[in-house]
Amino acid sequence: MEERAIKEQVAWACRILAMGGHGDLTLGHVSRFHPETGYCFMKRKGLGLEEVTPEDVIIVDLDGQRVDGDGDVHLEAVLHTEVYKARPDVGAVVHTHPVYATALGSALARLEYVSHDAVLFPDGLGLFEGTAELITQPEEGQAVARALGSRRAVLMRNHGVLVVGKDVPWAVLAALTLERAVQIQFVASVLGPLKTIDPEMVAQMYPEKYRDSFFVQYWDYLIRKARRAGLGDGMPGASHR
Ligand SMILES: [Zn+2]
Repeated sequence: MEERAIKEQVAWACRILAMGGHGDLTLGHVSRFHPETGYCFMKRKGLGLEEVTPEDVIIVDLDGQRVDGDGDVHLEAVLHTEVYKARPDVGAVVHTHPVYATALGSALARLEYVSHDAVLFPDGLGLFEGTAELITQPEEGQAVARALGSRRAVLMRNHGVLVVGKDVPWAVLAALTLERAVQIQFVASVLGPLKTIDPEMVAQMYPEKYRDSFFVQYWDYLIRKARRAGLGDGMPGASHR
């Protein structure tokens, strides 16, 4: 992908996440790894997720130093850089503090397979319990990456979530789906004892339910939805699909 297209995609990712309950003041960030240069394209510090334009996506090296673009690097950039170093299969990282998934990481509870949404996480969720503070040091970022392991998401105890994908649409869809899965689990647990999907059925459902071709459609839909919700200001072009 060209640099401009990556910046636009990261800006859309931020806006779509804001629409999906991931906003928290000017906190939370999204990045895309660019294998050709070895740099990360990352939302800059100081803006709410719904405010991010392509110009607010800065280029950061894997030491967390800004190499291009205007604005400051988020204090927790090591969350992104250390995960990219540990997971060559990961092309995009989301770190946010959504209410339901953050609450799950603040309780002695785990993700239960009570919905299609939970099935997107067939290996469960990692759990990082090293500290509840901001993650600013490389060794802390490495510890979060270890807690993530080979999974799609890790709960950061009393803090938030980190979700990864092979590209921006997968990471964003996974972050939205995680929040929805926990929301459904919460509501279900209030209604009665949980009835979970059998592990064999989870394994069977996962490849049927979550396919690349579906994600392309979901991503295009989410951009249209964001525009209709008034979140298209400052973004180039109108949806052509
Ligand atoms: Zn955080």
